[in-house]
Amino acid sequence: MKALALFSGGLDSLLAMKLIINQGIEVIALHFVTPLSNFDKNKEEILRKKVTELGGQLKIIYLGSDYVQMLKNPRFGYGKNLNPCIDCKILMLKHAARLMEELGASFVITGEVLAQRPKSQHKETLILIEKNAGLAGLLLRPLSAKLLEETFPEKEKWVNRQVLFNFNGRSRNPQFKLADSLGIKNFAWPAGGCLLTISSFCGRVEDLLKHDECTSANLELLKIGRHFRLSKSFKLIVGRNEKENNEILKSAADRDVIFEPLELPGPTGLGKGFANESAKAISSQIIAGYTSKNNGAIKVTIRVFPQASSETVSVAPIDENKLKQFRI
Ligand code: SF4
Repeated sequence: MKALALFSGGLDSLLAMKLIINQGIEVIALHFVTPLSNFDKNKEEILRKKVTELGGQLKIIYLGSDYVQMLKNPRFGYGKNLNPCIDCKILMLKHAARLMEELGASFVITGEVLAQRPKSQHKETLILIEKNAGLAGLLLRPLSAKLLEETFPEKEKWVNRQVLFNFNGRSRNPQFKLADSLGIKNFAWPAGGCLLTISSFCGRVEDLLKHDECTSANLELLKIGRHFRLSKSFKLIVGRNEKENNEILKSAADRDVIFEPLELPGPTGLGKGFANESAKAISSQIIAGYTSKNNGAIKVTIRVFPQASSETVSVAPIDENKLKQFRI
């Protein structure tokens, strides 16, 4: 018997997996990575280690255009910020449902806890999510199973319902006690929360949505640098350190405009969209504003990627108040 688990890396998903593995069921943990995920090889290794310690296997699933489509137009709307949790869960579970056959699994589990979150974890919502994902009766939530309808795996006695739980609400204490009794330690997951639940970040996403620029590549870029909207069709991203400058350069696409200070240490700017003379001038002033020794005029190079040739302008650093008007 095999099950797939939605695996965020957090404690609840670890507990759900462990409860099912302890019943002699093989579990494949699915970790979904979106353009907004804070994910790299190091994090993948941490996750793989955790899953292996529990006795499961890890599979990473990358979501791209289908995630973007969902974010642009979530059927069940957004949460408190720009988090389309219901649609997001449905999307991940639809992927899990498709993978069941391919991986030979008979059901899916999640670490969801009834009423833990305001909108997406009410009983009716949990039912709505599993129906819309095509998993009615096949989605088991081990941490709250005793408060929910019996699922097919429980009815068929693949899983013993008696040793599952009835967790309900926002308190985390029952999970901590259970982790202790199951011998699960070091369960902190460094990824932090979903960026779409952080209001200060959502302004950047809102800007992309408003200007019809919401693509996987543009969402990826929201995680780095300072962002400035200079016109309806042009925005500038400015690196905050050498690492970001390099990442910005690596992400340049054809016809993007690259701004760099000449002969002085300073940030790299990536202009996306149609750069008219005014956008180029303001972008150069912004770059000059973040360049060291910025007394007086600064020379800034402007080149259209992937061309090697550039023009050089000499500009004064932008005024602080003017800068604020453009900041996203
Ligand atoms: S918190 Fe973020 S990742 Fe989690 S379901 Fe909501 S939108 Fe998706």
